Amino acid sequence: MNIIDIINKTKRARPLSEEEIRWLVNGYVSGEIADPQMSAWLMAVCLNGLSDENTIALTLAMRDSGDVLDLSGIGRVTADKHSTGGVGDKTSLIIGPAAAACGIAVPKMSGRGLGHTGGTIDKLESIPGFRTELHFAEFSNIVNKTGFSIISQSGDLCPADKKMYALRSATATVDSIPLICASVMSKKLAMNADCLVLDVKCGSGAFMKDQEDAGKLAKLMERVGSGAGKKCRAVVTDMDQPLGCCIGNALEVREAVEILRGERKGRLYELCLDLTAEMLSLAGKGDIKACRTMAQEAVDSGRALEVLRETIRLQGGDARICDDTSLLPQAEYTYDVRATEEVRLDSVNCEELGMASLLLGAGRLTKDAPIDMSAGIVMHHEVGDLIPADDCIMTLHSSVCSDFSEAARRATGAMELVKFRPNYT
Ligand code: URA
Repeated sequence: MNIIDIINKTKRARPLSEEEIRWLVNGYVSGEIADPQMSAWLMAVCLNGLSDENTIALTLAMRDSGDVLDLSGIGRVTADKHSTGGVGDKTSLIIGPAAAACGIAVPKMSGRGLGHTGGTIDKLESIPGFRTELHFAEFSNIVNKTGFSIISQSGDLCPADKKMYALRSATATVDSIPLICASVMSKKLAMNADCLVLDVKCGSGAFMKDQEDAGKLAKLMERVGSGAGKKCRAVVTDMDQPLGCCIGNALEVREAVEILRGERKGRLYELCLDLTAEMLSLAGKGDIKACRTMAQEAVDSGRALEVLRETIRLQGGDARICDDTSLLPQAEYTYDVRATEEVRLDSVNCEELGMASLLLGAGRLTKDAPIDMSAGIVMHHEVGDLIPADDCIMTLHSSVCSDFSEAARRATGAMELVKFRPNYT
């Protein structure tokens, strides 16, 4: 086989054989195929797309580049959920315990945040003592006890994706539907849960900015998941405003605990129930309506909170945060952004808000940069709200930055505030 032929075929939008795709992926991981050649192929995919058959072959070749987990030691149906990345997305901390409280197992591996999107592992590491690097045997033991565990991506899972994703980030080839699909699905298939729910985010804080592309990605992911023999459902959800009111690691854990304690409802609560219901129904627990009722009962009764508490304890964390969230890291400095006149919050640019949060110390621009667990933003209003003059729109939190001017400028710029004019008739 020949890399020039393969690049030429994709450049001319001609299909590749399954063997050619496997050869390409394996050759890139082994170093036989060099970065410039892989970059050229990735760019050809970006410009010309890839057939469904080739996307499935690419996903499976990437999955098989490393370990595929054996979850057969887990004595329940297993389900995994993946979100394509957003701002303030702490759904895994709520859905995992809720689904586990309904009798299925949620063994999850998650990543750290980079750029404007947060990572579930960083959020969990804001819980004092919480360990995210566990051996597989301990991970599987915890899942068997509580039904739920999250650890950081470990071992040799999808080395092809690690190498290709880094190259895509450096060559402007991230925003391709088949490449995003293969990247996400290869990791999920390597995790090897029986059921897979994919939450494709759409809006200003997401990779997919419009409904049409988000719908295409969702359908493609479902076809690839089913093609690989999994029970799989993909839903498109809104990322045109942050999910919930908190952005930032400890702040998001606090919000998740408040939802599980029944102290908060709203958009985040409803989405978590919807996604948990999808997982339960794929796992054979009933139709969507019955599964949603089951999920709601698990959260409202406090059973899901008990799953989270036990998982935190078994992973070495301070489970008292489930009763007292002030034990989570607290910011040394806070700053209120207030309305200068009566306004309506018309829209929010989530990516910009994520960047403001990063400036406060809550995120990282490079892979190994340190983060301030206490930092972030608490929104006091949602899109559509009327905000009286001098009311607090959001509070910025940080322990590493006492001068809030730049972050406040960015966060304020992320909001479209329209002067309120009452309509008299
Ligand atoms: N997340 C991934 O894991 N891969 C992509 O390509 C995009 C988002």
